[in-house]
Amino acid sequence: MEMFCFKCRRKVAVNEDRISEGTVNGRRILKATCPTCMSNLSRFVRATPNETDGGNKPLWP
Ligand SMILES: [Zn+2]
Repeated sequence: MEMFCFKCRRKVAVNEDRISEGTVNGRRILKATCPTCMSNLSRFVRATPNETDGGNKPLWP
């Protein structure tokens, strides 16, 4: 999966099994480590359609 690294200022490819999922303020986020600079990456995930957060929006902009 590609995630944006703010330190590298570019998208980096992160191995799927190095991505963990968590929640912040009730919102799901994906957490990973940049393979290039080893800084922490996180990315908000839209709620799944069966949750009450606007429904069927695309996962990523
Ligand atoms: Zn990086």
